[in-house]
Amino acid sequence: MSRVYNFSAGPATLPLSVLEEARDELVDYRGSGVSIMECSHRGKEYMAVQEEAVSNVRELMSVPDTHEILLLQGGASHQFAMVPMNLLAEGQTADYTASGSWASKAIKEAGKIGKVHIAADCGKEIPTRVPMPEELQLTDSAAYVHITSNETISGAQWKTFPKTAAPLVADMSSDILSRPVDVSDFGLIYAGAQKNLGPSGVTLVIIRRDLAEASPEHLPAILRYSTHMEADSMYNTPPCFAIYMLSLTTRWLKQAGVEAVYEKNRAKAARLYDAIDATDFYSGTAVPGHRSDMNITFRIADESLEPVFLAEADKEGLVQLKGHRSVGGLRASIYNAFPEEGVDALVAFMRAFESRHG
Ligand SMILES: *Cc1c(COP(=O)(O)O)cnc(C)c1O
Repeated sequence: MSRVYNFSAGPATLPLSVLEEARDELVDYRGSGVSIMECSHRGKEYMAVQEEAVSNVRELMSVPDTHEILLLQGGASHQFAMVPMNLLAEGQTADYTASGSWASKAIKEAGKIGKVHIAADCGKEIPTRVPMPEELQLTDSAAYVHITSNETISGAQWKTFPKTAAPLVADMSSDILSRPVDVSDFGLIYAGAQKNLGPSGVTLVIIRRDLAEASPEHLPAILRYSTHMEADSMYNTPPCFAIYMLSLTTRWLKQAGVEAVYEKNRAKAARLYDAIDATDFYSGTAVPGHRSDMNITFRIADESLEPVFLAEADKEGLVQLKGHRSVGGLRASIYNAFPEEGVDALVAFMRAFESRHG
């Protein structure tokens, strides 16, 4: 077996021990004689898995009793639509912050449902950043305020969240559980699982119960948060295997805890940013105070060397370092499960590459 260092932005590296555990119980789940993929979602084996997934998230994020944890499908993109459909009533305005590609997608979908006000716009700035809490121009009695806590493509991340009178809604797809967050400051948090929580196919939604209860009756049942809340995320067949993987990944995370993982994440990111800043050969693409701990975006001064960098890195088992096709450049995605040794290997490779080509 040979595993490479996989810097993919998502789906992304999972903990090796989690993959091995899933492999070991794949065909015969704990003596049941069937795979967890093959048993009834209402049976005791699977029900225990889903309950563990939810309780792990509640424990890891200290989710208060005021908030419900839902496991849905459709990815974060589905939440771009579901959030305004449920929370943005006619005559109301929702405040959105434009910080990059993912925020833009959320804004576009909300605009189809109701009135959107852009509370801050730095989405097209280079170097990239996210808005500062104090620059937000908020609407009086907005339905909610939407932010993208980490812009996966540009590599910019909110370091301090705004305090808002209206419910704060955050797309945390690419930094969920990578750092401590006070959930009580948020009305709704959502995240596709495939960056920090497990495989794609399940979407985590943490929603204040009163907001879920207010889902409009005219919506189809499957689109209402209240439906999923009342059914304990079992309104229809859940993505059982993805939730099983989420239960294992969150169990793995509990061994260290979010605080320790956060320290590790910061150290990993700092090592890469230090390597970038140590030379004019490389340059970071995000404003230093806004640099993401999850997606390290950078360029080579001579951009024509970037394809060479990617090809040589690939040969050394450092894969998926290409920046998103919309922005180019280079990107190292180093979520919770990405090992420190892989960061060291990339730093060593960057130095060697510079001495060969610089
Ligand atoms: C990946 C990503 C998405 C899209 O997630 P899907 O699950 O593919 O819909 C949305 N927002 C952010 C911040 C992301 O990183």
